[in-house]
Formats: sequence, C-alpha cells, structure tokens
Amino acid sequence: MKLTILGAAQTVTGSKHLIEINGKRLLLECGLFQGQREKTYQHNLNFDFDPASIDAVILSHAHIDHSGNLPNLVKQGYQGPIYATPATRDLAEIMLKDSGHIHEYDIKYLNNKRKKQGLPPVEPLYTIHDAVMTMPHFREIGYERAFNPVKGVTARFIEAGHILGSAAILLDLEERGKSIRLWFSGDIGRPDLPLLRDPVLPKGYGIDTLIMECTYGDRPHDDIQEAFNEFHLVLDRTLKRGGKVIIPAFSVGRTQTLVYFINQLMSEEKIPQVPVFVDSPLATAASDVYRRHPECFDQETWDMISEYRHPALDFDQLTYTHSVEESKALNSRKDPIIIISASGMVEAGRILHHVKNNIHDERNTILIVSWQAPHTLGRRLAERKREIRIFGESYYRRAQIETINGLSSHAGQRLLVDYAKSAAPEAKQIILVHGEEPAAYALKELLEENKTMPPIHFPERMTTFEL
Ligand SMILES: [Zn+2]
Repeated sequence: MKLTILGAAQTVTGSKHLIEINGKRLLLECGLFQGQREKTYQHNLNFDFDPASIDAVILSHAHIDHSGNLPNLVKQGYQGPIYATPATRDLAEIMLKDSGHIHEYDIKYLNNKRKKQGLPPVEPLYTIHDAVMTMPHFREIGYERAFNPVKGVTARFIEAGHILGSAAILLDLEERGKSIRLWFSGDIGRPDLPLLRDPVLPKGYGIDTLIMECTYGDRPHDDIQEAFNEFHLVLDRTLKRGGKVIIPAFSVGRTQTLVYFINQLMSEEKIPQVPVFVDSPLATAASDVYRRHPECFDQETWDMISEYRHPALDFDQLTYTHSVEESKALNSRKDPIIIISASGMVEAGRILHHVKNNIHDERNTILIVSWQAPHTLGRRLAERKREIRIFGESYYRRAQIETINGLSSHAGQRLLVDYAKSAAPEAKQIILVHGEEPAAYALKELLEENKTMPPIHFPERMTTFEL
C-alpha cells in the first residue's frame, strides 16, 4: 500500500495524490496547477503516470485546483469512473466547461508569443469539447454512503463545509490482511458559512493517516459575523449617498454567499431596497446548481427559506443577467445599484467594464471581498492606488475602496489546529498538503507544542509513503 503526493505539495494548486493497492491505482483528485501560463502549461500537460493505468478517481470538490485537469486525463486515455457527490458533479460540469473555454482562449496568447520566438504552435491543454467528454465518467455518490472504487478500498464522502458538495474522503484500505484507515481532508471549510453545513472533524473515526490541507495554517480568520456586519455597513453607506456598489467576486461560492447576505439584509429592511445584479455567466450557472441541490443546505438556510418564503438565492430585487446586452445595459444606469461580477481578482470578464464605468464617481464603492494575488488589478485596487489601468488606458480613481476579510471558505488556523488534534489520539502520521511553507511550518509548530502529536510531514512533490 503506497501513497504518492503528486500535487498541491508545498503549494496550493494541482491537488493530486496516488494510492497503489492490490495492483490497482486510485487517484485522489486531478487538479490544475495554476500560475503563469508558460510555466504551468507543460506541468499540467504531462502526467507522472500513464492516464490509462489509473483504475478510479475520487474528487473531493469542484474547485479547479482539485478537478481542473480531469478533461486532460480523459483526453490522454483515462477510461475509469470519477466518483463525486451529486452537487460536485454538477458544479464540475460548469466549471470544467468554463475552464475549457479559458484554455481555448489562452492558447492564442501563448501561440502568438511562441510564433515570435520561432516556435511551432501548441494545442490547448483541453477544450470545452474535452470537458463535455469527461462528464460521462462521473459516478454520483451521496454523503456517508460506502462505495468500492477499486479492490480492497471502501470509500465515503464526509461533509467538508467548503463549497456546495465539498467532501472529505474517508478510505478504508485493505491489502493482504492489513487494514489502514486514511482521511483526506480535501479543502476544509468553516463553521457558520452561509448555506452550507459545518465541516465534520475527523474525531473518533480511528484514522491511521490524516492528509490535510493547511492553506491558512499561519493565519486566524476574522469572524464571519463581523465580516457580515462590515458588509452591511458598506452597502448601507454607499446606497444612502446615492452610489453604486461594485463587487468583484469568484463565481462559485463567494457570489452565492454574498447573495445570501444581501437577501437577508433586504428581507430585514436593513439596507435600501435597490436592484441587485449578478453579472457573470458562470455565477448564474453556479447559482442554478446551488438551487438544484438544497440537500446540501444547512438548517439556517432552511429556516430562512421557510420564514421569508423565497429560496435563499432569489429575491425580488435580484436579477441574474444572461446576455452581453443585459450586462452592457447596466453601464447607463444612474441609480444606486449593487453589481456582483467576475473575475474575482478583476483580471478578466465583465467586472473590468463595471470597474471602468464606475471608477470616476466618488459616491461609488468598489468592495473587495477576497484575497487578491500580487500583480492583479484587484490587488492594485485593494491597495487603494489612484491610477488604475484597464484595457490599456489609464483612469483616475475617485470611487471609494472598501475591503472585507473574513469571508474565506477555507478553515483558518484555529480550525486547522482543532482538525489535526481531533484525529491525533489515534493517528500515526499527519501529512500536510495544499499550503505554502510559512503556513505549514506555523501550523506544524503549533501542533508540535502538543507532545502527543504523531509525526507531521510536509512532503515535497513525488514523495511516497508506505502505508
Ligand atoms: Zn476549494
């Protein structure tokens, strides 16, 4: 029985782990390495194994850094099933197609560059068509139901509370009379996230090996209720002075959280009843998937639905735009409105137009609700720079900038500590993945204060563990 860490090793993207047992090969996830196009292209293109040699894949959740290389795996000869919860399957469908579209678009940029260097053109990593051809491989399995992906392995999805359908994967491995219980955390969510149930901790499961993410191992999060209160104040202030609120947000997860909050504020008449627009085709499609999977909602969401008699993601003032014309029509509106649009780091998509059109008016607010990577326009905005370049032109910013932390759908440091501690009494080892060095070292140090902790590893890519 062997476990090899193939991705999300000392970094946060490209989640991929291989289990070899009874002559079979089981892949946990097949995520995309994300970063600079030229660097990640080859890294994503070439697998460390023959895709046809894999017998089964299990996917924890639909985020692209966990699912995004599945179409390439299938394109290169993978024949087997992809196990996921029903909601993960449906979210993966829209996200993989969107990703295929991005790869088709990005390759033009890369090939232009190659042409100038005298190099031959390359194919996109995968296309929308490849994403579509991946979907028949999915097998839907509900939470807490045992299934057998390969001989000697019994698997179960356990609530992870991170995005719709997200799960930890509990694996009972058996080979030649030896039994091992392994828990792969996937991405760990947070208690009190709107819509979703709280993550289940690996307490009392008798885990031998815990593989866990550590994205925020060095940072405690702000309280969600506090973030919600700040959000309330920013909306109220801006709308009352006649301004618009422009919110760049990731289409899957963050947008639905914001819609839920605005729904609550408007239902309780805590902010002016202005029109609200979700202007991102992917976000609109994602909200559809959320609506189709109320089985994933938590009790608070059900209470809200029964109290206000409308679904959590729809209310009278809210419009999900579809066409480009509908999106453009928002440009000419002079009244106070709220626009939520993507991309979340203001790098592409319709949000660029909304920022451009509203940046000159000091009554408006651009509200940053997530971490912004260095060198993105979102980061420049978050740093309150006055001069902003969009589509090659310079704009002077008069609109207000507000930033709200604390809305992350990842566990913060405190929960990560509790998570590891809950498995520690039985666990023989803990393997930290999906985190940068500072995060992993900070978490490791905190955990090792506890003398009863089992060995904690932070493996390099391609490290193999004998289980
Ligand atoms: Zn995730």
